[in-house]
Amino acid sequence: MSFLSQGFSQDLVKALTEMGYEKLTPIQQKAIPQARRGADILALAQTGTGKTAAFALPIIQKLLDKPATKTRFNVRALILAPTRELAEQISVNINDYAKYTDINCAAIFGGKKMSSQEKRLEQGVDILVATPGRLIEHMEQNNVSLANLEFLVFDEADRMLDMGFIGAIRVILEDIRTKPQTMLFSATSSAQMNALAADILRKPQRITV
Ligand code: AMP
Repeated sequence: MSFLSQGFSQDLVKALTEMGYEKLTPIQQKAIPQARRGADILALAQTGTGKTAAFALPIIQKLLDKPATKTRFNVRALILAPTRELAEQISVNINDYAKYTDINCAAIFGGKKMSSQEKRLEQGVDILVATPGRLIEHMEQNNVSLANLEFLVFDEADRMLDMGFIGAIRVILEDIRTKPQTMLFSATSSAQMNALAADILRKPQRITV
């Protein structure tokens, strides 16, 4: 199955081809059509399976299909990740996928200056990748607005729960009133994760690879 046959725009396919992406991986084959039609997703997938593209490409394409001017502190898509390394990796991937489009992605995580991240957020970002703790710090300083959020992703949700981020996740969720399309990716399943999934996902498509 090719990326062009999934209805992705030429600008996206060109970047993917340059990156050596020709065929969809199994998780991409299962998740992309569901995400494209707007379904919530609960996916059990290990890292290395191509899960980043599985959630990121449909989001980029949907943002392209519904252009919006970038406004101060506004975020259209939020991706939560457990560690700064993963957050950085996701944002590098997304900026690579979107390099021929005007969609942009920024990452915020602890250990870097709040002020430089604030400047970046002030410009408005289409896709924000964040670790939960640092996102809350920026929310408390009104550096980020989730008032128009259209897409929400939890990547490596099991690790976020293991690291004790459930309280932070709840604080973030309280700020989101828009009912965004939500996708939860996790390597393992647990009672706590199923409870979170039941809380935040609407009629999720369950995907395993
Ligand atoms: P991930 O599981 O998202 O961390 O992806 C694992 C690796 O596979 C990354 O280096 C991706 O760039 C790469 N990758 C993801 N999807 C594809 C694909 N369809 N074709 C080739 N490489 C891919």
